[in-house]
Amino acid sequence: MTQRGTVLLIEDEEAIADLVRMYFEQEGYRLVHAPDGESGLDALKDRNPRAVLLDLGLPGIDGIEVCRRIRAQSDVPVIMLTARDAEVDKIVGLEIGADDYVTKPFSPRELVARVRAVLRRSEDAPRAPAVIEADGWEIDSGRREARPPEGDPVRPTAREFDLLWYLAENRGLVLSRSQILEAVWGYEYFGETRTVDVHVRQLRKKLDGIPIETVWGVGYRMTD
Ligand code: CA
Repeated sequence: MTQRGTVLLIEDEEAIADLVRMYFEQEGYRLVHAPDGESGLDALKDRNPRAVLLDLGLPGIDGIEVCRRIRAQSDVPVIMLTARDAEVDKIVGLEIGADDYVTKPFSPRELVARVRAVLRRSEDAPRAPAVIEADGWEIDSGRREARPPEGDPVRPTAREFDLLWYLAENRGLVLSRSQILEAVWGYEYFGETRTVDVHVRQLRKKLDGIPIETVWGVGYRMTD
């Protein structure tokens, strides 16, 4: 019956947890609910979920710190649940490594769609491994790493690598933020594109000198 695997929900509000559970179980997922960060981190280890839904406002360790700790040990897709737009700024600004976020009150149906999109990306049939060269860098889809002209290879997170690969495959072309969102995150976004900027910033930080240009007012381009 549960064919789609386990989703972990870390959320202290029972009413929300019940609602989310109902929708996800209807869709064939197994939902594991943890009411706080500590038990959530335990469940991450024990239950090996395919995606994590993480409330920002949790008792004890807050959602931001929980997300950091998840990222320190796992590439599992994380979708943050936030109460206000102001919190979105916080999540985005802190670059904590979440893959996506949903603002409360959210529609459970939309949440399921987001999880599907996130999972679809991570499940896409692996393409034949290839290496793309750009400005002395080698971007390797088999090893999912980037090798600088000098120095050691760098392995970005799963999502960062998907973004890097998309830019590399389309090098020379200017890509708009919404184009990038659709291709890399797998859904049409509702005018919300900061997530792209955050991930590009992370890539630039990790891959010092990677030839990703900001095209003012439009988006990004990897130069040849
Ligand atoms: Ca809460």
